[in-house]
Amino acid sequence: MPELPEVETVRRSLSPVILNQPIKSLNVYYERILQHVSPAQFRRQLTGSCFINLTRRGKYLIFQLDNDLEMVAHLRMTGRLIYFSDAKIELAKHTSAVFGFESGGELRFEDVRKFGTIDLVPRGKYEQIKGLSTLGVEPLSQEFTVEHLQELTRKRSAKIKGLLLDQTKIAGLGNIYADESLFMAGIHPEREAGSLNLRELKKLHQAIVEVLQEAIVGQGTTLRDYRTGYGREGSFQNKLQIYGKKGEKCPRCGVDLEYKKVAGRTSHFCPACQRE
Ligand SMILES: [Zn+2]
Repeated sequence: MPELPEVETVRRSLSPVILNQPIKSLNVYYERILQHVSPAQFRRQLTGSCFINLTRRGKYLIFQLDNDLEMVAHLRMTGRLIYFSDAKIELAKHTSAVFGFESGGELRFEDVRKFGTIDLVPRGKYEQIKGLSTLGVEPLSQEFTVEHLQELTRKRSAKIKGLLLDQTKIAGLGNIYADESLFMAGIHPEREAGSLNLRELKKLHQAIVEVLQEAIVGQGTTLRDYRTGYGREGSFQNKLQIYGKKGEKCPRCGVDLEYKKVAGRTSHFCPACQRE
């Protein structure tokens, strides 16, 4: 599933090519991608208007329109938003929606598993998008400090891995970057969040920020479906230390890596570097 670095990469790659381009046509091939808006209404509101800004909050992409509406997209499991400068390129089999621009280019939402969503809301009115209106702190913002992380974990009996995945606490972390951050910080995924001391919280805070920043530089992690807004693979999969490395040795100490279900997700860790 695309996480913060992947969604941020899509944002950065699409912005230069789709902003301020009049939308000429709109085809919705999978109508259930639309939440709270009918295909006819969606087509009417978008055709003839432009996207004037593209921002990100957690794993959500927010396309600001020139008519006081915002289109909010979530890629979920396998969604991709890819810009094609040549509309003659054949549509992928699992294309859910296509935005055609007057310039001749197209923005296509492709989605094999079909869990991706698109909402259309008045600017800034996110109440009906529950996942967006309840998001926690942006981990690459000024607000995300060691003190903030300390506040989030204080007296919490939840496992730290589960807390990192909780979008209402920290926005945008998923299984990959939660595992990578905990490994970098030397913290076992099953540690009780409230048991982390200040030294550990500092290491974890630094690890989260560093791994996200480096993954954005690498244009995200492509294990299967994820592509940038230009349709290319990311490169951070080549820099993963621990995620998905079952059966391999710890890159730090050489011990066999382990994995187990924590907070409902398969979690990778080194039993020597991340003691329980
Ligand atoms: Zn190790």
